[in-house]
Amino acid sequence: MSAARRTAVVTGASSGIGEATTRRLATDGFSVVGGARRLDRLEKIAEETGARVMGLDVTDPESVLEFTAAIDSCDVLVNNAGGAFGVESVSEASDDRWQRMYEVNVLGTVRMTRALLPKLLASGNGHVVVIGSVASTDTYVGGGGYNAAKFAVRAFREVLRKEMLGRPLRVTQIDPGLVHTEFSLVRLDGDAPAAARVYDGLTPLTAADIADCVAWAVTRPPHVNIDEIKVLARDQSTATTVFRR
Ligand code: NAP
Repeated sequence: MSAARRTAVVTGASSGIGEATTRRLATDGFSVVGGARRLDRLEKIAEETGARVMGLDVTDPESVLEFTAAIDSCDVLVNNAGGAFGVESVSEASDDRWQRMYEVNVLGTVRMTRALLPKLLASGNGHVVVIGSVASTDTYVGGGGYNAAKFAVRAFREVLRKEMLGRPLRVTQIDPGLVHTEFSLVRLDGDAPAAARVYDGLTPLTAADIADCVAWAVTRPPHVNIDEIKVLARDQSTATTVFRR
């Protein structure tokens, strides 16, 4: 199967892993459609890669419907939009932050997948990729809301795979550890020095490393389903165990 004729939709394409995946899949010959809220960033990426871009807020059902209706065919959906908000303990959990994490990571993924499923199946070789996290299996102090959301993403992905068995759809979850993106800046409310400290003295993964995993998973022969990839930096062995020089 030629990659040149396949369309890949990437959510959260304006930065980090989604941007790197957009760039990588475009380089590999996919026709890429990228969505996110920050259009200025998307437009720059479109200019540089030839990807088609559109505004998308996965937490807004109308936006998801508008975005997906504008896509004629879809072979690959990379559900990447997501993130963490805050590091509060359960005793101090904010309803608002937990809700926002659930909305973007879980419901955003469900909405996008449900909307594109008919097109993915019609392609004859559809593929849903979910960017989970090491936090989808490994809980940690202060991780409550993000852990809960990524555990839910894992459950969604496992159920989808079971429900689609026998249909032309592959389902892959990629669970990264520490990747140097805007993730920590967003999580820590824009506190740049605190975000930088997360990566102090260690060599984290890059967004391109995760794009490499996506590109590999979606270019296996159609009968091969890569169920899960867990990928950590060499300097990290669990969600909370890292080696700092
Ligand atoms: P990032 O640089 O902050 O990128 C997050 C992306 O999600 C941005 O493009 C953002 O775009 C988009 N996004 C956020 N809310 C959105 C919404 N409501 N609708 C549409 N797009 C939305 O962080 P990242 O590290 O690349 O994160 C990508 C994924 O990897 C997330 O699911 C994250 O949980 C996961 N992950 C990250 C790490 C890590 O260490 N970095 C580790 C494991 C898993 P706009 O703001 O322009 O909408």
